[in-house]
Amino acid sequence: MHLPAPQSTAPVAPVTRASFYRLVYPARVLGMALAGLAVGSVLFEHRANAWLWALLGITFLLWPHLAYVHARFSPDRYAAEKRNLLVDSLFVGMWVPLMHFNLLVSAVLTIITTFDKVYTLIRRLWLYALIVLIGAAALVTLLVRPELHPHSTILVELCVLPLVFVYTWVNTYRGARLMRTTARQNWQLAELRRTDSQTGLHSRDHWIERATQALQSLQSADRPACLLLIDIDHFKSVNDHFGHTVGDEVISAVGKVILASVRSEDSAGRYGGDEFAVLVSQADARTARAIAERIRTQIEQLRFSSAPQLRLSSSIGLAVALPEHAALRDWINAADVALYRAKDLGRNRVAEAAGVDP
Ligand code: GH3
Ligand code: MG
Repeated sequence: MHLPAPQSTAPVAPVTRASFYRLVYPARVLGMALAGLAVGSVLFEHRANAWLWALLGITFLLWPHLAYVHARFSPDRYAAEKRNLLVDSLFVGMWVPLMHFNLLVSAVLTIITTFDKVYTLIRRLWLYALIVLIGAAALVTLLVRPELHPHSTILVELCVLPLVFVYTWVNTYRGARLMRTTARQNWQLAELRRTDSQTGLHSRDHWIERATQALQSLQSADRPACLLLIDIDHFKSVNDHFGHTVGDEVISAVGKVILASVRSEDSAGRYGGDEFAVLVSQADARTARAIAERIRTQIEQLRFSSAPQLRLSSSIGLAVALPEHAALRDWINAADVALYRAKDLGRNRVAEAAGVDP
């Protein structure tokens, strides 16, 4: 039997298959000691002989350390620890007839030692452990032919309590900790999915989700909004002349410019490689154009210590949300047409969808 060790909330070293035995060790020492107390109380009530007391010492006090040494010096520590876990169950099975089938202690030890195996996440280990336990109990019963004494005295009941209490406490604590960790990791995963790591802007998928919702709500409330598609001019030649590392720096600097230029109610995302999208809410074309011009000018003013000669420009397509934009795709297409017009007109400018460009 092994009890899972309580874990602190401080960061812990990752449990690898090879270090699994080290995780089990303190749990086994504690669990076996408490189990030994329960079994010892039964032996005491039965006035057991010295051989049984010696066996009790070997199983519940010595075995956890032997198990550790066995796993530690095995070429395959993980496989050795799996065998140790089965030996735990074998010992419990052996003690069931040696305790003359004391019902309380036998049941508690069987339940704990079997369902503990579920926590190891080793498939079907609990089942193999249960088979080993029943097999050992049957064999020792045949060999020893013990009398049946299933009843427990108050002393035995008291000596089982520490095991039950500690086991329940440790597992509840461990379960709660696992749930907290899982919730935190789920949140972190969702955050990673939502954010483009290079720029800090929304990722493409998350931006599309937000923009779809925004389009629906602003259409139903008849509120104005604009979409900006921003593309770095000749970015491929930045990579070609200055290298991809500088290219990455440029992407991240442009992302920062965009993030700093939009308001909290706007939504900015990285739409593709060197293309960015901004949903400017509560804004007519004039306000959105002012934001777009600010972004364009700031991109023009960017300087890089790793490439002092580098000068950037960007082209921006602007599309006002119209009733005929039934889906986000229609709105994006309109901004995309405007972006291509900005490129055609010589780049480094803002162009409006179906509008008159200055
Ligand atoms: P245009 O003015 O017409 O937009 O020309 P362009 O060269 O900017 O356009 P194009 O789409 O041909 O090139 C974009 C390039 O951006 C292609 C791709 O290799 C590069 N790119 C995309 N994402 C990244 C990135 O994260 N880092 C770097 N360094 N390059 C990227
Ligand atoms: Mg480009």
